[in-house]
Amino acid sequence: MLYFIILTRVCNLRCLYCGNDPDPRIEPLEITYDIWDLKRFVEKDPEPIIAFYGGEPLLRINLLEEIMDNIKARHWVLQTNGIFLDRLEEKYLKSFDTILVSIDGRPEITNYYRGLGTYERVLENIKLIRERGFEGDLIARMTVSGKTDIFLDVKHLVELKDPNFDHVHWQLDVLWDSPPYQRYDDFDAWVSKSYNPGITRLVNYWYEKMVKEEKVLGIIPFIGIMKTLLRGERTNLRCGVGINAFTITTSGRIIACPIAPEFEWNFLGDIWNTEPEELPWRVTISGPCLSCDIYHICGGRCLFANKTMLWGIEGFRKVCQTVRHLVNELERIKPRVERLIDAGVISEKDFDYPPFNNSVEIIP
Ligand code: SF4
Ligand code: SF4
Repeated sequence: MLYFIILTRVCNLRCLYCGNDPDPRIEPLEITYDIWDLKRFVEKDPEPIIAFYGGEPLLRINLLEEIMDNIKARHWVLQTNGIFLDRLEEKYLKSFDTILVSIDGRPEITNYYRGLGTYERVLENIKLIRERGFEGDLIARMTVSGKTDIFLDVKHLVELKDPNFDHVHWQLDVLWDSPPYQRYDDFDAWVSKSYNPGITRLVNYWYEKMVKEEKVLGIIPFIGIMKTLLRGERTNLRCGVGINAFTITTSGRIIACPIAPEFEWNFLGDIWNTEPEELPWRVTISGPCLSCDIYHICGGRCLFANKTMLWGIEGFRKVCQTVRHLVNELERIKPRVERLIDAGVISEKDFDYPPFNNSVEIIP
């Protein structure tokens, strides 16, 4: 199973959509448990995947190294803002299977959301880690909000060369703030005039690349959903939280979703008194998703949103329209993708992603 380890709740950036204001009354800012207690808990799982998470985990590199030196894990994952990637020694860098770096698209968009100079620093650092021999999966992890042009910003990131990303993934800046729609001038207009048409253009561009260049570009939401459509499978919540992904907070509590330490529904136990096998399926998607006609493809999108309904049912349903549009657009090209597979232009294996739960949520 996947374990998010919150290495610290502190971050060096103040991104517009986050604010970075952790409340120490909910969880301590820094880890208070003994790493040997963490080891005892995690190693009861025969195949643990460890994802370092924050705050900004690279603010606590010594702790990260101590954990990597002393705990056995099947895979290592890092979610970082990328600013301190140059500080990671080669030995540790090369041990990571997946590194997700926050970057929001074109320079002006990334720097608008994340602070001046962030884009340039992140690109310098990913070039450096490639030069230092990082050969794992490098994912550009975007947050998509009111200033994003989804077509231009994703296209910018997938077309980067030297340094390049292997995959691009995004999460919408929705349903996690209250009052709602804070970073949109007009959310409905943004969805109908910008985001949804941009998804249509991006799906067409993705398909054209398959035809002309015989490759499947690493756009994670498209790959993940197309895999489900091609195989006709049913999916569960794709980030896996509460199913095969759990979070260990700075105090040693175990919660499902890493962004919600303050909610009772999210609390599952602690590293001293809970066994890994007791964790799955204790908190699950409920409410409107269970009767949704595309639940088997969407999986419920986000447990946090499903449980908190911070934008009310009306706002929740507005976001579902983006999921529905995305699924419809991929359904539209599915017969043509199948023909390309049959003709040997691309392979069904190109849609075999992720190879393990590397913390991508698939549904934006
Ligand atoms: S589209 Fe909306 S209602 Fe349907 S499963 Fe996804 S999140 Fe739930
Ligand atoms: S998709 Fe939602 S439930 Fe899953 S990890 Fe992200 S915030 Fe948590």
